[in-house]
Amino acid sequence: MQGKILIVDPIATNRIMLKTKLNSAYYDVRQATSVAEALVQAEKDSPDLIITAFQLCDADATALLDGLAPQPNGRRIPVIAIGEDENAALRQLFLSRGAQDVLVKPIADTLLLSRVRSLIRLYYSTEEWHMRAETSRAFGLADPPARFRTPGHIQLVGSDKSLNHIWAAQLRQNNSNKVSVCNTSEAMQSFSDDGRPEVFVLVLTPNPVCITQHMHLISSIRANAGTRHCGIIVVQTSADSEVAANALDLGADDLMPQGFNVKELHLRLSALLERKRQIDRIRESVDLGLREAIFDPLTGLYNRRYGLAEIARQTTQAKPDNLPFAVMMADIDHFKRVNDRYGHAAGDAVLVESARRLRTQLRPTDMAARIGGEEFLLLLAATPEGHATAVAKRLCNTFEQTPFVIPGHSKSLTITISIGLSIISSKDLLSCDITAKAINRADKALYAAKNKGRNRVLMSRPAA
Ligand code: GH3
Ligand code: MG
Ligand code: MG
Repeated sequence: MQGKILIVDPIATNRIMLKTKLNSAYYDVRQATSVAEALVQAEKDSPDLIITAFQLCDADATALLDGLAPQPNGRRIPVIAIGEDENAALRQLFLSRGAQDVLVKPIADTLLLSRVRSLIRLYYSTEEWHMRAETSRAFGLADPPARFRTPGHIQLVGSDKSLNHIWAAQLRQNNSNKVSVCNTSEAMQSFSDDGRPEVFVLVLTPNPVCITQHMHLISSIRANAGTRHCGIIVVQTSADSEVAANALDLGADDLMPQGFNVKELHLRLSALLERKRQIDRIRESVDLGLREAIFDPLTGLYNRRYGLAEIARQTTQAKPDNLPFAVMMADIDHFKRVNDRYGHAAGDAVLVESARRLRTQLRPTDMAARIGGEEFLLLLAATPEGHATAVAKRLCNTFEQTPFVIPGHSKSLTITISIGLSIISSKDLLSCDITAKAINRADKALYAAKNKGRNRVLMSRPAA
């Protein structure tokens, strides 16, 4: 099934006609006749979309929209109100109460189905981000911080310059949003700018060249990394359901087939901006959560969890004829003394500088992780034994030869490290548990390096 849709209409023939259309497009359809019944069904079935008539058995659609608001997720379920009354004030009333769209009959089947598809697609992607936010919360990661409402940036894109300016001036009245105007090619050129808009309002005239350019622009906005999360509202100067359906299928979020109406456009813009900003906040916090899940916050190196997983991944994906991997365990010598003599902050500064030195000595493809207080795990792919020993010695020299400057301390410190090295050869790749074995061998070699006096590299060989 494509999705679950709840139809709310007191007239049986309306419900049946709509159900038939939706069933033929493989939607799972439920029905209700009144606000009370619809609210119960919405809570029980969690539909992906609600299509409601303007007037229901017990009240009108505003009562349904108000009743959904307090339900868990209720505010996010998209609602389309459908009626026969071509009345801009009524449309604005439903939009202001939270309806995503208001359609007036007769509605072309292609347009209805594209609107249904686009709203369900938007709902699924929004829900996916909310689910990720919940997972982040379960991992103890912070909620996205609430932000002050700042004015939005809207770009009005149309081929008629003077019309653009008239509409932009109307949009700016009694509103703090920044409104810029341009044509389609200027819009494409601004994709990589820092000042790109949050929402594009595309003015679609019946001119075939204009239609082609705008369709191309919608696909480009959706395909471009910098703009793919921007909102898109299409305003048609003359209704054409075929073109409207295409625009929605290509990725437009919202559509005004009745033409420009400043009040209605404001309502649609503020709903779209609000939704976009909420998702942007969640996306940023999930990104941050992911970063926290794999990086060590003090040094910026990978953390233990990632380091171990990366060795396991690289060794399981390696082909037997790959060159060997070098696994190194590096540990700062007598680090406790730094803390004891100069304080914990000085110890932290040594850790940060140690990580920087390790990282700058390695290739970008090598992996460095901080896996304990002053212990680092390094993985060098495609590195034969001779080369790995030379790198490890160079790392030791990098520490010993240049003293560490500690902020707030006049005397610089000589810090050394010990390294245990083990090589994963193509033969090892055949044995199971290779990650644990390689780390264990490197750990033993590190222990031996410490016992032999520190500031040195020892190599471990697998038992013959
Ligand atoms: P060895 O040469 O045998 O490795 O001796 P060591 O002193 O380096 O090792 P030991 O294990 O005795 O001490 C490690 C110290 O590292 C103890 C712990 O307090 C300190 N440490 C662990 N994590 C951090 C950290 O994030 N910051 C600071 N400043 N110190 C830390
Ligand atoms: Mg140590
Ligand atoms: Mg240690």
